[in-house]
Amino acid sequence: MRRVLILGGTAEARALAAALVEDGGVHVVSSLAGRVSRPRLPVGEVREGGFGGPAGLAAWLREHAIGALVDATHPFARRMSASAAEASAATGVPLLALRRPGWREGPGDDWRRTSSLESAAGLLTAPARVFLTTGRRSLPVFAGLPGVWLLARSVDPPDPPVPANVRVLIGRGPYTVEGERALMREHRVDVLVTKDSGGEMTTAKLTAARELGLPVIMVDRPPPPPGVRLTDSVATAAAWAHG
Ligand code: NAP
Repeated sequence: MRRVLILGGTAEARALAAALVEDGGVHVVSSLAGRVSRPRLPVGEVREGGFGGPAGLAAWLREHAIGALVDATHPFARRMSASAAEASAATGVPLLALRRPGWREGPGDDWRRTSSLESAAGLLTAPARVFLTTGRRSLPVFAGLPGVWLLARSVDPPDPPVPANVRVLIGRGPYTVEGERALMREHRVDVLVTKDSGGEMTTAKLTAARELGLPVIMVDRPPPPPGVRLTDSVATAAAWAHG
């Protein structure tokens, strides 16, 4: 039976694992980084933790006789995606990247797109009350900015100490527009800083920002590794994985 490794940690990866397990005909292993304390687990076999870079992943692919590799990691998981491309090239195991589409600015939106967390921080003008949803590890980039107060939402708490100008909110989507609007009003937020994760689960904050007339600073995705075949469709990825 063909063995398929899904590099996961996303809703798309879980949907793909579910589709492949339901279809049968292939053996599915999903891989998680093991970073969040209570991950949402896909169906089927799951392994957790890093592989030890591209060479470690290549060795793992060989050892486990993997016949197809799907990189369904988050669009901002740049290192894992680069590692998948390198390990695929080294082993000849075919690779497909499954990426949800990015968000698009619509009528009434006031977005400033930027290429990095650092440049997003540079776009803030103090005094500012910021709703920050770029992940707990990005907090140091923003926490030291003078005149900036942060409402920082993340799946797991940031590493202590948390500076006095930061209010931490633990949460994991999906969120509602009503909830996001109430949150931004309650904390008198005047700008949203987020990254272009795409997907439905966390899009409510963008609608709420539009309705409240708030600007959004949107960090663009890193480019995918060159030469890797891409799809945004779970069904296409499932058909591909069957070979
Ligand atoms: P990253 O910077 O690209 O990865 C750092 C290292 O973590 C990788 O080099 C790899 O270690 C390990 N790793 C990452 N994803 C893995 C996976 N699915 N299975 C096994 N090892 C993995 O990634 P990240 O941004 O820290 O994201 C970590 C995980 O969280 C990913 O699986 C991603 O799908 C998920 N996630 C990320 C975000 C985000 O905003 N970045 C949001 C939601 C979910 P080795 O080099 O040792 O193999």
